[in-house]
Amino acid sequence: MGKVFYRDLKLGVLGGGQLGRMLIQEAINFDVFVAVLDPSPIAPCAKIASEFVIGDIQDFNTVYEFGKSVDVLTIEIEHVNVDALEKLEKEGVKVYPKPSNLRTVQDKGLQKEFYEAHGIPTSSFKLIDNKSELSPNELPCVQKLRKGGYDGKGVIVLKEQADLSNAFDAPCVVEEVVDFEKEIAVIIARNESGDVKSFPIVELEFNPEANLVEYLFAPANVSEDVNIHANEIAEKLINALDFVGILAVEMFVTKTGEVLVNEIAPRPHNSGHHTIEANITSQYEQHIRSVLDVPLGATDAISAAVMINLLGEKEFEGDVFYENLNEVLAIKGSKIHIYGKKQTKSFRKMGHVTVVDQDLEKAKQKAKEVKSLLKVKA
Ligand code: ADP
Repeated sequence: MGKVFYRDLKLGVLGGGQLGRMLIQEAINFDVFVAVLDPSPIAPCAKIASEFVIGDIQDFNTVYEFGKSVDVLTIEIEHVNVDALEKLEKEGVKVYPKPSNLRTVQDKGLQKEFYEAHGIPTSSFKLIDNKSELSPNELPCVQKLRKGGYDGKGVIVLKEQADLSNAFDAPCVVEEVVDFEKEIAVIIARNESGDVKSFPIVELEFNPEANLVEYLFAPANVSEDVNIHANEIAEKLINALDFVGILAVEMFVTKTGEVLVNEIAPRPHNSGHHTIEANITSQYEQHIRSVLDVPLGATDAISAAVMINLLGEKEFEGDVFYENLNEVLAIKGSKIHIYGKKQTKSFRKMGHVTVVDQDLEKAKQKAKEVKSLLKVKA
């Protein structure tokens, strides 16, 4: 018999940030041994992992040696050394998501080509190697670095000719500007046996300055058609990838009701935080279930929810201080998550608050209160 998770199996996680921390919180319920690799000795997982290894997740030997010491290896960030993961996979370590999927996701150009090849609707695009290939008659457009971007860094909207001087001079995806009505996300999971389950769709609202998710509303206010269509697309995509684990599919709903895939994240995601309180199974538990190849949990919502990211206030840097924390804790249905980062800086993701209420409108009102009260300062 193979190793069983509550006895002798070791789960390895590359990355020790807040996503890893919330993964460990669920892994504890399953009594899974979790080893974490992260370069920072003060990473959010450092104090709570069963084993915490300090090392570079982009370095071949470090990832390979760490991977050799575990039975199942997963990630909480996709910018990791994929060559090492491929070698580990060949040598029999279960690596989920699969290294080939990570290679595709790490490169926004390969992502777009994958969508095109598999009939997944997405905005039209072209790939360029440097900015000399951008021409004024393609404006306006959205330019995205193929590699290394995150949280809106590496994305620029080019509206007019003068903007071309700010364009990235590197391999990029150049996309048409989508005139979207909403941004939504489908969090979907698939286990090794091929079972697939998605969470109810959520709606995202971005902070225009930081390009980060400011509010998340669950459930999304979308038509039945959009709901069905978005789910079909997510399911087709996760099967086409032959993916194992949690996959976050970010989508645009256009003003004419079209659903287009923007990008995917091959791990638990910001747009699934609310599932901790608002759904029968959380995205973190679902990820663990998928990579351990046990039955997936029910994803039904038990409440409506609004999630607010706690971002470091602009221009505050240093030892973190949460202003009005007690006032927020006194709001019925507010659940706070502090990620354990000691230092704040402008727009750093320091935590989140999920407000649950049977009535989404009431949850929204309370979320506004949370937003106006709680400030992350130094
Ligand atoms: P990141 O990987 O940094 O999150 P995204 O590709 O998700 O980058 O882009 C960040 C944000 O920029 C999106 O959430 C969306 O608001 C906006 N955006 C991205 N692509 C387009 C597009 N083609 N048209 C309009 N807005 C876009």
